[in-house]
Amino acid sequence: MNSNSVISDIVEKDLCFGCGLCVSVCPKKCLDIKFNDFGEYNPFFCSDQCTHCGLCLKCCIQSGNNYHLDLQEYCDTVNPYHDDLLGKYFQNYVGYSNVDSHRANGSSGGITTWLLEILLSKKIVDAIICVGSNETCKEGLFTFKVLTSVEDIRNNAKSKYYPVECSDAITFVMENNITVAMTALPCLTKNLRLAMQHIKKLRERIKYIISFTCGMGPSSAAAEFICASSGGDPFHLNEISFRCKIDDKMTAKNFAIRCVSNKATDNELVTYQNFFSGLGMALDYRMFSLRACDFCDDVFGEYADISLMDAWHPDYFNDPGGNNIFVIRNREINTLVEEAITRKEIIANVIDAQIVIDSQLPVVDFKRNLIRERIQMAVKANEAVPYVREDLLPYRNTFVDKLRARYRVNTRQISRQKWLDYNKCDMKLTKDLKPLIWKMDMLRRSKKIFSFYSWFHFIKRIITKEVTS
Ligand SMILES: Cc1cc2nc3c(=O)[nH]c(=O)nc-3n(C[C@H](O)[C@H](O)[C@H](O)COP(=O)(O)OP(=O)(O)OC[C@H]3O[C@@H](n4cnc5c(N)ncnc54)[C@H](O)[C@@H]3O)c2cc1C
Ligand code: SF4
Ligand code: SF4
Ligand code: SF4
Repeated sequence: MNSNSVISDIVEKDLCFGCGLCVSVCPKKCLDIKFNDFGEYNPFFCSDQCTHCGLCLKCCIQSGNNYHLDLQEYCDTVNPYHDDLLGKYFQNYVGYSNVDSHRANGSSGGITTWLLEILLSKKIVDAIICVGSNETCKEGLFTFKVLTSVEDIRNNAKSKYYPVECSDAITFVMENNITVAMTALPCLTKNLRLAMQHIKKLRERIKYIISFTCGMGPSSAAAEFICASSGGDPFHLNEISFRCKIDDKMTAKNFAIRCVSNKATDNELVTYQNFFSGLGMALDYRMFSLRACDFCDDVFGEYADISLMDAWHPDYFNDPGGNNIFVIRNREINTLVEEAITRKEIIANVIDAQIVIDSQLPVVDFKRNLIRERIQMAVKANEAVPYVREDLLPYRNTFVDKLRARYRVNTRQISRQKWLDYNKCDMKLTKDLKPLIWKMDMLRRSKKIFSFYSWFHFIKRIITKEVTS
């Protein structure tokens, strides 16, 4: 690609995932970031001082840099095992935090909150950067924050399936001599690693990157849609909590989404929706997904020091408390985990890489299988595609997979545009998407019937039930 700036090479080609990193690395401070019409963060020029130095592009994986080579080198030096999906890794676990309310207040098993707390309280880092509610005057319900107390870390637990940008937090790190541990989705993790290669201050100050498995990054319209479809007011959404464990009957399959909105009066309206009929449905059908996510091939945050996820595996998801699966790529973090297991602060077992992968099969399918069709579709339509690893390029998808990929791209495009056109009316949008959703469900059913994995777990469940009853 011709090096110019992120605006011409990434934003204008609709490849931006809105992380905000380019804003903080620009030496001329000529970039800022805001929501576009679709509720997706995009950087823009806030002054005409751009010298076309290209630093913003060097820190963005969407620019087509052959970044994998350099980043792979980083992981190779420290880790003994390799898996095509997990990347380089040291050890995998399943479990949960046994400390105070970490688990009850966490998205899954609360291990992330435990780790952030231990890194801060043992003074391994000076501060934590993670995501919490946005109290600045900038738009958006959530943002990255620099935290220096255990209480603040606890108050900012839980996953935010919402656009978040890190420009203020990273600018703070550039301007202050502090060390940090930071949470980041896989795409931002890669951008941070690139920036750490080019900017010494970031290399010295960002000590740990804690990532998550990521199915997709939704626009802010996803939160509005959930609010509207649960009876709330999408024009005045004040708060949203995506992962509420309301009672001990809730498992990883059925937790609640809580929305607080204001229906044109001063009274706040609190509405609830089941995760899998709200956001889960949107995630599954790719409603309100960013176009950049169509070309994301990193399931497990391969370049992070540790990657955490839900234990969405048949052996664990009926546990009402919630569990994490986590992949460790950093020996110091592994030592902290082992010590915590001995002290019973963490209840966790070592697991095989295959269990980690099995827990995320739909994401693996989307990011490593259906991606081939999406790339083909974009190339045929003469649309820009970022760099993806070369082994994904051979094209062998079945007819059914082609349809599954195409329907999801259609859903993404329709939901993005129609949410605007229909003035945030969830019923009109749902009606438009109904035929597509029906087709996707039919294809899923047909695939499930013939899947070895489903039969294997069906039979396993019957046998285990018979043994325990
Ligand atoms: C957009 C998104 C998509 C995800 N997709 C999947 C998936 O497909 N499969 C899966 O198994 N897991 C997924 N996860 C991860 C999962 O939801 C949990 O975050 C993870 O299991 C950690 O749980 P926990 O109980 O340890 O976290 P907690 O102890 O609750 O801590 C979560 C931490 O993450 C920080 N955080 C919240 N949102 C963000 C964000 N957007 N970016 C950076 N940091 C954030 C919080 O500030 C908090 O410190 C996703 C998370 C996000 C944010
Ligand atoms: S993905 Fe991030 S670094 Fe790249 S252009 Fe968008 S905001 Fe900037
Ligand atoms: S090319 Fe250089 S000066 Fe221009 S926006 Fe990017 S980092 Fe800033
Ligand atoms: S799917 Fe990939 S690009 Fe999209 S938000 Fe997740 S990690 Fe980022």
